[in-house]
This record gives sequence, C-alpha cells and structure tokens, in this order.
Amino acid sequence: MFIKIKDLELRKLEFNETLGPGVIDLGEDLVQKTPLLTTGRAELIRENRGAHEVIEDIRLVGSFSTEIDALCARCLEPVHNAVAEKFDLLYRPLGVDARSEEVSISQAETEIGYYQGEGVLLEDVLKEQILLALPVKQVCGPNCKGLCPQCGKNLNVESCDCATSMPDPRWSALEDIRKKLEQ
Ligand SMILES: [Zn+2]
Ligand SMILES: [Zn+2]
Repeated sequence: MFIKIKDLELRKLEFNETLGPGVIDLGEDLVQKTPLLTTGRAELIRENRGAHEVIEDIRLVGSFSTEIDALCARCLEPVHNAVAEKFDLLYRPLGVDARSEEVSISQAETEIGYYQGEGVLLEDVLKEQILLALPVKQVCGPNCKGLCPQCGKNLNVESCDCATSMPDPRWSALEDIRKKLEQ
C-alpha cells in the first residue's frame, strides 16, 4: 500500500491491512509464519522551517502483529517470535535535514525517517519495524550447543567425535593404509 503525500493533502488516511507471508521481503533468514495485521492512520504534518519554507511530513501511527521465525545464531534452527508492536513515525522529505541545521522536533517520542518522491510504501515501513522488533542475534535456547565447526552436525540432536580431536574416520582409514604400506 503506497501512502501518497498528494492524498494526505486532502485527508487523513486510515489503514487496516492484512499482509500474507511473502508480501514483505524479509530476506532469507526470517520467515513470516502468519498474516501480518496492521491498523493505523497516516496524516500530513506541515513543518515550518524559517519564514518561508514549509515541509510536508508524513506521520504514521499504528500497530502491527505477526509471527516470525528467525534462525538460531548457533544451530540455525528456527526460533519463533510473536511480534506485536506500536509505531509512531515521522517521515520527512529526503534531503531536507541535510541543508537545515536547526531541526525542531515537536513530537519528542516520534521516530524520524525519510521518504523519497511521492510518499512511503507501508510494506517498507513495516519491514523496518519488524527488523527493529527482533533481536539482532537470537538463540533457540541458552544451552544451545550449536553446530560442530568441523563436521557441521547439530550438536543439540547428535554428537560427533570432532570435539575430542579424533580424526575423521575417513582419514584414519587412510592412516591405517599408510601404516600397512610402511611395514
Ligand atoms: Zn540453537
Ligand atoms: Zn563434528
């Protein structure tokens, strides 16, 4: 859903969207498991900059919820997350703060972002909010043993001999042959 500044010039926009898995591209490491539900409103905020300049910001206030599987940083198994967050965001035209030194932010609680061109894509906003809501690194549990760095086995479900510095059986077979040749 594209939120156009031109539409907001006429009226506030209420949204109530259901976004199925795949609508938002979350990359390879995150999987959306349930439809994302979001409700909220978009409105135009006019900011006066100096005597003559008025900039048009987009304010987005709302909430969303969904369920996301992330990968355990140690064993790469899915880690389930129920995500439910509120947001109150202000999007300024891109570049407007670069040339203005004094920025008066009236809503101290509001996060500032930037929009380019005609407006903002709600899906992009939600993607960013999902990523912010999830921990950067997750583990499936505090006792996750992870993957064996040598053979790649998931040490939570099976053990391997690498940790005890035992040679790989294929190499020990070669070693046996070598010993026989030396005899
Ligand atoms: Zn794990
Ligand atoms: Zn191993």
